[in-house]
Amino acid sequence: MTTDRNDPKLRRIKSDGQQEDYLVLSDEERAKGFVRPVQHTYTHLACGTTTRCGQKIAETYAREPNFYGGTFCVHCGKHFNLIDDSGIPAFKWDDGRAVGE
Ligand SMILES: [Zn+2]
Repeated sequence: MTTDRNDPKLRRIKSDGQQEDYLVLSDEERAKGFVRPVQHTYTHLACGTTTRCGQKIAETYAREPNFYGGTFCVHCGKHFNLIDDSGIPAFKWDDGRAVGE
């Protein structure tokens, strides 16, 4: 995990479709508190598959829900925008809240 938006690993995609590294908020920023529950699994509504994210990413979403514009689906093997072209959420957390909301 990196807090550097210019880290070239963020733009390199591995053979499994994931980025070489992911951007997260710093430990100090995440320690300021969460505005959403920390959740670790979300479902891609298009395929119905659940993907698990790491602790720092889960906390980054909880601190700043619209920090990310898109996320990865393990079944589809690629990233999708959190909100699709028609304005509909593409992913939901286990509690039913849209990812990015
Ligand atoms: Zn999918």
